[in-house]
Amino acid sequence: MKIQLTPSVIHDLEAVAAQVGGLEFSGFGFAEWKGDTLEMYDFVLLNVGSEVFTEIKSKLILPLLDRPDHKNMRVWLHRHPLGSDKPGPHNWSATDENTIQTSPLGGVPEMVGWSASIVRTPYGVWVGRIDNHRKKTVRHVEVFPQPHPEIITRAWELLQDYRAKQMSHLSSHRLLSTGAGYQVFGVENDEDDDPLGVYDDPEMEEWLESDEEEFLDDDLEDDEDYQPIHSRRQPFYRRWFGG
Ligand SMILES: [Zn+2]
Repeated sequence: MKIQLTPSVIHDLEAVAAQVGGLEFSGFGFAEWKGDTLEMYDFVLLNVGSEVFTEIKSKLILPLLDRPDHKNMRVWLHRHPLGSDKPGPHNWSATDENTIQTSPLGGVPEMVGWSASIVRTPYGVWVGRIDNHRKKTVRHVEVFPQPHPEIITRAWELLQDYRAKQMSHLSSHRLLSTGAGYQVFGVENDEDDDPLGVYDDPEMEEWLESDEEEFLDDDLEDDEDYQPIHSRRQPFYRRWFGG
C-alpha cells in the first residue's frame, strides 16, 4: 500500500513549500484508489501558519463539499519541522495524532470512515499514513515520487559550504540586521567580496565612504540598541532595527 502523487501535484506542493519558506502549510487532497495505490490527483491549499503550527478553518472546508468529486477528498496534507525520510509514527506530532483521530478531514471519525495523511518533513520528503477510523488502525506508507537521495545530500553539502563561507564573511565584516534578516556589508569594494550586491546601492556606497567616526556619531551613538562588538581585526557594529 502506498500513496502516489501525480506529477502536477508534487510539482505544486514543492512550489508551495519553496514559496512559504520555513512556514507550515496545510490543505486537503483529492485521491482515488488504483489497486493498492492511493493516487492523489489534486489538492487545495487552505492555510499557511507559523513555523510550528497550521490549522484549517472549518468554513474553508464546506465549499469543498460542493465539488463533484468531494467523496475523493481523503487526504490531509501539511508540512512541519519534524520527522525523517522514512514512514512511521515518529513523523507525527501529538497534535497531528489528535487531529487525525478526533476530527479527520474536519469530520467525525466514524462518518469519515478512513482518511490518508501526508506530511512533508525537514528531509524534503513526504511520508504518509492511512487511518481506518472505524477499526482504529493505521498503516504508515511511503509517498511517491521521491527526490533522489543523492540530490538531497548534495544540496545539504553545498548549503553547509555556503554557511561556512558566510560565517567567515561575517567574522571579517560589518554586520547590520534589518529585522527581516541579515545584510552583510563588506568593507572593501571588491565584487568577489560582495555576494549580495550591496555596493549597487548608492546610499550604501555613501555609508561605506563616510568617515567612521562621523558615522558613529550620526547614526549609532544615540541608538540605545547599538552594541559594539570587537574582534581581533577591527571593531564591528551591530544594530537592530527591530525583531
Ligand atoms: Zn504536524
